[in-house]
Amino acid sequence: MTHDASVDRRRLLQLAAASAGTLWLPRSAWSQPRTAGNPFSLGVASGSPTHESIVLWTRLIAPGASQLLGKDPVTVRWEIAHDEQFARIAQSGQAQALAELAHSVHVEVAGLQPDRWYFYRFMVADAVSATGRTRTFPAPDAPAQKLRLAYASCQRWDHGYFSAWRHMREENLDAVLFLGDYIYEYPDAAKAVRVPPGGWVLTLDDYRQRYALHRGEPELQAMHAACPWLVTWDDHEVQNDYAGTVGGNSGPSVADFPARRAAAYQAFYEHMPVRASVLTKALAGVASGAEYRLYAQQRFGRLANIVMLDDRQYRDAQVCNPEGKLGSSNVNPAACPAWNDPARTLLGAAQEQWLDAAFATSGGGWTVLGQQTLFGPRAFKAAAGNVFWNDGWDGYTAARSRLTQSLQRHKVANPVLLGGDVHENWVGHVKADYSRPDSATLGVEFCGTSITSRSAGNKNIAERVAGNPHFVFADSEGKGYGVVEFTPSRLTTTLRVVDDVTRRDTKISTLRSFVVEAGRPQVLAA
Ligand code: FE
Ligand code: CA
Repeated sequence: MTHDASVDRRRLLQLAAASAGTLWLPRSAWSQPRTAGNPFSLGVASGSPTHESIVLWTRLIAPGASQLLGKDPVTVRWEIAHDEQFARIAQSGQAQALAELAHSVHVEVAGLQPDRWYFYRFMVADAVSATGRTRTFPAPDAPAQKLRLAYASCQRWDHGYFSAWRHMREENLDAVLFLGDYIYEYPDAAKAVRVPPGGWVLTLDDYRQRYALHRGEPELQAMHAACPWLVTWDDHEVQNDYAGTVGGNSGPSVADFPARRAAAYQAFYEHMPVRASVLTKALAGVASGAEYRLYAQQRFGRLANIVMLDDRQYRDAQVCNPEGKLGSSNVNPAACPAWNDPARTLLGAAQEQWLDAAFATSGGGWTVLGQQTLFGPRAFKAAAGNVFWNDGWDGYTAARSRLTQSLQRHKVANPVLLGGDVHENWVGHVKADYSRPDSATLGVEFCGTSITSRSAGNKNIAERVAGNPHFVFADSEGKGYGVVEFTPSRLTTTLRVVDDVTRRDTKISTLRSFVVEAGRPQVLAA
């Protein structure tokens, strides 16, 4: 049998859509005693919304230690309704959960009404999943008065409890932007709050187990069920500080890094509410390491255009590491001839071109960039002069300049960069030329703290902000997330932090709030 990618892709899309399925799981299989558990214990999720469609996700998992899920596809029924009681069903259908994709289900429901909330659930035999709540966006040309987004990243399981997600449920959000480090590949941390089962995460099975560990957390599961998510990944979904097809520097070295990356990407797909079109070569590409097309844009009416980027899959390797070291280091650019090399890329040529075209046609309102990491330069004082971290945008200065030039060239409306990765809150301005504080301010940046992952603390934070004056605020202690509320005239960003990430019952509070008026890219205290 040949692997024709287009045929394979069509099949996958058919599976993702409603199909007149015939392969029912024998009823007797799920007619085991109820104590055997529920195949929906990983919960439900929705994501990648447009004004008329949404991806509904679940993954079947064999209850307990039973082997009920074999190699055959399992037909899963789904319903999406206007009401929580499922009295007014909008659509229903069937989808196949394939063993090749860990019995995950990605239903792409189309033909929905714009700017509406819906409820959805899945069924296999007599088992019914939890009910999820999701929404479509307003039509691209429709007026929209309000959008409330949370941005979040970096949820190292052994560093704390997922209490932030529990509090996020109360934020009345339209969508969550998850910006990377959904899992970490480590066995455990020093002074771990809790120790994850298994060792280093290296194989497809390991990655699947690590995602399942996270999805078993009730707070995270509940937040996935609360509203649609738009997701990208960073390094730890594969390995610390990896770059493109070059491995990073954590744990045992693996002979075939691209194969490890392919396994990690597959597990990410299996656990995220993303479209089947992310798999550019469908099932045939899953094992062979084909591109995963995560970058995308979606308008929320006339109010905002949300652009999601992928700065890991296509990047060049970090430069000027000490000899033989993979991954990242702090580098003095004066001692690194390749530092500003214009040939080096963070997004890859194709994504850069796509982004430039997206900016050219971005339209009015707010232009929101969901990307992985801190955008503005962040110098660290060192004995031999200022050093910069070569894994973030600082290590790809020419690529950063190309992005700011593209923003200027297309006069992009109200750019708002959201990020993660650094486990600290950083708030500031996007500058035409960061070396000249008097250069034009193009937009604003809110780089978010981690949900749980540790950071250095605030000892030198005032000095660090002062040394990088395009930033107006930083905090290296609070763990949590940010909420941005957009209206046509202004945005308000609220940094929410938990009291104690090592306690499940921890409270949350507001660290700071900021306001930015439309048409005036200046961060003001709220
Ligand atoms: Fe992280
Ligand atoms: Ca990271």
